[in-house]
Amino acid sequence: MSPDDLLLAHADLRDRLFAAKLLIPSGVDGLYGRSAIFESVLQGVDAAAYALGLADEPTVMWFPPMIPRTTFEAVDYLRNFPQLCGPVFTFTGDNKAHSELVRRLDEHEDYSSSLELSEVALTPACCYPVYPSLAGQLGEDEGIYSTMGYCFRHEPSVDPMRLQAFRQREHVRVGTPDQVLDWREVWVDRIPKLLESIGLEFRSDFANDPFFGRAGRLMSMSQREQQLKIEWLVPVFGEEDPTACVSANYHQNHFGELFGITTPDAAEAHSGCVGFGLERCAVALFAAHGTDVAQWPDSVTKVIWP
Ligand SMILES: [Zn+2]
Repeated sequence: MSPDDLLLAHADLRDRLFAAKLLIPSGVDGLYGRSAIFESVLQGVDAAAYALGLADEPTVMWFPPMIPRTTFEAVDYLRNFPQLCGPVFTFTGDNKAHSELVRRLDEHEDYSSSLELSEVALTPACCYPVYPSLAGQLGEDEGIYSTMGYCFRHEPSVDPMRLQAFRQREHVRVGTPDQVLDWREVWVDRIPKLLESIGLEFRSDFANDPFFGRAGRLMSMSQREQQLKIEWLVPVFGEEDPTACVSANYHQNHFGELFGITTPDAAEAHSGCVGFGLERCAVALFAAHGTDVAQWPDSVTKVIWP
């Protein structure tokens, strides 16, 4: 599909979701409200993705959609993905500075220099807050976690598969390299079963994150070569331009080293995560089965609303 045709296909699907009142426009690309039905589909996908990991008896963690700026900086987000980041700014000035801020507002001038970095940033991936919480030595019965929450990535797009604010269900494994890789293999079996059960077409492939710039190209190549990231791609807009709806990642000792996490045997911990893009799965379902859930196949609704 040519870039122009792809853009039309993106806009067409988004307009259909707006017309069916499944997504609620806000005036900003990628920032939408959700209807009760959309949310119910999303929660059904999340429940199924969560249930798929229950056999591992994960420790469940919930976090707000923000992380400390110290974590945001430690995980190198600004270095690797500055184009996507969302540090939170606020006002810390005095009355004089406030008057200047208000003057700039009234004059429709840029007021960013009136604001200061706060101590928080919007969460780019919902597994990020898990790792710093594990600093220290893991107990024998620790190492498997499940979390879900909102993430922010600054990539405004008319493509309804690419939102600025979206949720992920993430399963996390922290332990020895063998434990993490064996765990990932289990998920490589589980993920296709879930996608098949909800009637989505897909293929899997090794992939890389969108590292920024020239240095980033090397990191992308190395991530692919080492097969650290596997994605399950759903062809919502055709086989040539599929969208990743699920990924399984091996971080090696990146977070273990960064946050001082050790295994019960006192070795540096390795980690991996499996992330389901929940809005992406929901939008893919509406694209595949139509915007009227009453018309969806029973085999699919049985999984979403068991
Ligand atoms: Zn993750």
